[in-house]
Amino acid sequence: MRKLVAGNWKMNGTRADLSELQAIVQAHPAPGVDIVICPPATLLFQAAQMTAGHAPDIGAQDCHPAASGAHTGDISAPMIADTGATAVIVGHSERRETYNETNDLIHAKASAAHASGLIAIICVGETLAERDAGQTLQVIGDQLAGSTPDGATSTNTVIAYEPVWAIGTGKIPTLDQIGEVHDFIREFLTARLESAALDLRILYGGSVKPTNAAEIFAVPNVDGALVGGASLSNADFTPIIKALEATF
Ligand code: PEP
Repeated sequence: MRKLVAGNWKMNGTRADLSELQAIVQAHPAPGVDIVICPPATLLFQAAQMTAGHAPDIGAQDCHPAASGAHTGDISAPMIADTGATAVIVGHSERRETYNETNDLIHAKASAAHASGLIAIICVGETLAERDAGQTLQVIGDQLAGSTPDGATSTNTVIAYEPVWAIGTGKIPTLDQIGEVHDFIREFLTARLESAALDLRILYGGSVKPTNAAEIFAVPNVDGALVGGASLSNADFTPIIKALEATF
């Protein structure tokens, strides 16, 4: 399995910031891991053109489940594929929280991504209150069961475990806590999906930095990272990629 570092730029970046993407392209002429950058939708086409034939691949941050229609402000999976992007994040906790996205909706978005040939990066994660109440594995299990299409395979789907309380806070779970959830996700996927999903990549996300990446990547069943803030600059993102390359 090729490991993966994905960067989520969120609502950051104008055309001038594509210089950071260019720097990432130049820093990784032949990377030993897969790299995906998810810029805002306004930059998808230009980013995909800039990276054509090179790493990184380009992904979107969300999609509507329908292919087209009266959905003002939304973009669909076929539109994302048309830009040259190859992946899309679905179910990020910021969307689950702000827009009350349900597991059913995320399932539909992931299915739409698959139908357009996009890799669906499906995010799951518990809140601090859920962790404190001892509900972490129950919550993750419910989110996985509800949002992962039956047709998920290791080539069309990536799972990102992102504890909500670790996103953008500088806090991360202990390595044992990360390992416990990643082992649980691996067992869950193995039990529920076909053998084509056996080596589906499971990313950790939440305050991954150059300073903590190596220890997180050493945890079994951590196949890479989904990175927010530290993906905005090549200076922070490249050491994270190098830390993952150094794991094999
Ligand atoms: C994210 O939003 O997916 C994320 C992991 O953010 P950060 O790395 O900034 O915590």
